[in-house]
Amino acid sequence: MLVVSPIMSATDATGRLRNLILARPSIDRASELRTDPVKLDELWKSAKILTLAGDRFHSSTDALTLVDWTHIQGDGEKYFLGIDRSDGQSYFAWHIAALENEDPEFHTLREVGANLSDLEAGLAVHAVALGNWHRVHPMCARCGAPTRVDLGGAVRICDVDESQHHPRTDPAVIVLVKDEDDRILLGHQPIWPEKRFSNFAGFVEPGESFEQCVVREVAEESGVVVHSVSYLGSQPWPFPASIMIAFEAVTSDVSTAMADGVEIIEIRWFSRAEMKVAVETQDILLPPRISVARRMIEHWYGPGALEDLQGGESWRA
Ligand SMILES: [Zn+2]
Repeated sequence: MLVVSPIMSATDATGRLRNLILARPSIDRASELRTDPVKLDELWKSAKILTLAGDRFHSSTDALTLVDWTHIQGDGEKYFLGIDRSDGQSYFAWHIAALENEDPEFHTLREVGANLSDLEAGLAVHAVALGNWHRVHPMCARCGAPTRVDLGGAVRICDVDESQHHPRTDPAVIVLVKDEDDRILLGHQPIWPEKRFSNFAGFVEPGESFEQCVVREVAEESGVVVHSVSYLGSQPWPFPASIMIAFEAVTSDVSTAMADGVEIIEIRWFSRAEMKVAVETQDILLPPRISVARRMIEHWYGPGALEDLQGGESWRA
């Protein structure tokens, strides 16, 4: 079950992507309360608490399992997620060590993110993104001493050199490449399931603008030079720590198109008619519904569309 409102198109009136599954409206993060430990302790006593084990959270297949503080025990860290201003309810995550064995009561965002309500999806994305960062930053990057959680989970503090360490998010651009006939160019990565085709994407490098990154990544992976770069939207992608910033761009010269042979081993152009046939006959698999790539392809295709078609939801071959 996909809990998003009925849609006619994948974009709003501004041309931006909408209904991105991991970028839905959620609660007020109430960041002003992070510096008030007394208030946070008070909120904890009336909070609904999501348990996070590694990068998996306690849930059914379509709803978070939220408990009160009397159910919390053992070792873990508290992260303040915010307050729902509609009813004053506060929310926290309780982060414990990863489970040693698969537990059917714990799920990943990829597994159940699309089934959660707007509020719960927001909580889960925030909690998983925080948890992923805390888990791999137990030590100070300056002096190597152990760090501790502070500000309700928003930072780690080193008490030896008094440095503060903030959670990182790594920006990655993803690009819908079009030619002047409004065909799109998609690529296949060898680590994906067979027949999965998607947009070109890559991490922003130090000192690089998003627009420069778009031009570089597309050229590296597909051989084409793009211009007319325009912004489509963004979605957090905490696998483990990215945000995907979506653009479309146009190439005026399709003759140079060629897969790089490493990251991308096959590229294909699609008109809308070719896309429809390719998806219907399962000649290709679209990216999973939770991904910004899927929304970008739907956005290009237009109303009526690919939304009902099965894309194949698995991530890896
Ligand atoms: Zn230090």
